[in-house]
Amino acid sequence: MTAALIDGKAFAGRLRHRIGEAAARFEREAGRKAGLAVVLVGEDPASEVYVRSKARATMEAGMDSFEFKLPADTSPQKLLDTIHALNAQPNVDGILVQLPLPDHIDEDEVIEAIDPGKDVDGFNVINAGRLAVGQPGLVPCTPLGCMMLLKDRLGELDGLEAVVIGRSNIVGRPMAQLLVDANCTVTIAHSRTRELPEVVRRADIVVAAIGRPHLVQGEWIKPGATVIDVGINRIEGEGGKRRLVGDVDFDAASKVAGAITPVPGGVGPMTIACLLRNALVSAYRRENLQLAEEAL
Ligand code: NAD
Repeated sequence: MTAALIDGKAFAGRLRHRIGEAAARFEREAGRKAGLAVVLVGEDPASEVYVRSKARATMEAGMDSFEFKLPADTSPQKLLDTIHALNAQPNVDGILVQLPLPDHIDEDEVIEAIDPGKDVDGFNVINAGRLAVGQPGLVPCTPLGCMMLLKDRLGELDGLEAVVIGRSNIVGRPMAQLLVDANCTVTIAHSRTRELPEVVRRADIVVAAIGRPHLVQGEWIKPGATVIDVGINRIEGEGGKRRLVGDVDFDAASKVAGAITPVPGGVGPMTIACLLRNALVSAYRRENLQLAEEAL
């Protein structure tokens, strides 16, 4: 391996420490803890694991965690009523609805129902629009975490060629927007892109958010490029044991890249740290208290 390893786990640990300090200051100044509500509909085991770890991380950061578990057959109206009640609750600064939702519920309608000031996932059209026009809002956690890792590694990103593979509202699109805002020249590649290897080969920064194990090959990577692997794929490893891999062939890419994130231990821990960050940013804004958001 010649590439430097971008240790998202260690970076997220430092970020969570700073968030903990800022959460303690919030409690002193506001006279209450910042609060994050997580809503889960149904019993999807992976979602239950995510919700539990988010709740634990929230409390570890010195914030209140409110969990709402609704049965899988919850009516859309009941879920909307829950969100409206949380919108009105003063000690709830952030609301996260764990996706995916059961098929009978319209995800877009639910996301739109969240108060944009409490939309810590940043998926609401108001926050997506603010990001698109360069206004301050709440930025989706995964791309925000990727940007922190990139800036930490590279400093200024001015003029760099960036290729984002994937155009989802959760990762690809906001990621591309953040890279444009950082003065990169950005290409968004997706399932219909022709000559993907050629497109990737011109990138100084590659962000892979596809959901296909090891799709990005080592020989696609420009020597010295910085590679951020967002993908989380469960594959069968040796002895039938399931293991997590990214969208990039890590072993091959790390012989060519300048720096690369591992899976696990790269982007994943940043997502949860950025969720805590967004909840705290929202709490400070709602109480009109000063927070140096860039320093977090
Ligand atoms: P998505 O399914 O919504 O989007 C996938 C994108 O990949 C699409 O835009 C599609 O056009 C593109 N794509 C599919 N096949 C392709 C191909 N052969 N060539 C080029 N592009 C192709 O997925 P998502 O929600 O954006 O998530 C992407 C991956 O990131 C998944 O593995 C997901 O689990 C992971 N993820 C990780 C985190 C984290 O915290 N690390 C957070 C969110 C998502």
